[in-house]
Amino acid sequence: MRIILLGPAGSGKGTQGELIERHYGFPRISTGDLLRLEVQKGTELGKMVADVMKSGQLVADELVLRLIKDRIIDPDCQAGYVLDGYPRTLNQARLLEQMEDNRQETVLEIYVSEEAVMERLAGRRVCPECGAVYNIKNNKQTIEGRCPVCGAVLTVRDDDRPEVIRERFRIYRETIGALLEHYIKKQVLFRVDGNRTVEEVFGSIKSILDERITGSQGESSRP
Ligand code: AMP
Repeated sequence: MRIILLGPAGSGKGTQGELIERHYGFPRISTGDLLRLEVQKGTELGKMVADVMKSGQLVADELVLRLIKDRIIDPDCQAGYVLDGYPRTLNQARLLEQMEDNRQETVLEIYVSEEAVMERLAGRRVCPECGAVYNIKNNKQTIEGRCPVCGAVLTVRDDDRPEVIRERFRIYRETIGALLEHYIKKQVLFRVDGNRTVEEVFGSIKSILDERITGSQGESSRP
């Protein structure tokens, strides 16, 4: 099973991806996290993408594909995996299908309003040490500005500045139409209202995935 999470930054893809990983055991693969790790480690690839990421623009398809390719061949991805932040364009969707065309696919589009996204991202803080993500509105224990898990000083992501958030949202709106059309044609697209609590959103996702997983088991056991 390949689960694809679509939605603008701040729609809750990361949180829902983690919940899916915990519940179903399919690892969450975030291209944003993989790219940020390359930047942090100062690799060749990291140096190539750092400025593009800061501006909120998309990194070149072939660079992102390289990271995905290396990750999905890991043994823990065999039964399934969750993609968070990939594909961002129709071309990326096609490249993925060329690379691995025989997987059952479920695409979840989490839709949210632009105002909700702006508010959520303005409150987002990340821990530079352990990678935990918080929202200062919901996590009262981060009031001191420190990570409740490891104590490091929380930071704001470079691309969570309001002007960059707007640019990321603009790019999302520009590219999402073609992707949705593609997945509607394949009959694998499910829409989920992300303007609700984390638990409510996950409840909807769970009913979709449970049905898809049971359905596919039924199919594969057919003679
Ligand atoms: P994210 O953490 O998903 O919001 O991604 C952060 C940034 O990483 C994006 O604004 C892009 O610059 C880059 N990025 C992540 N995933 C992709 C992708 N699939 N294609 C191109 N750029 C990406």
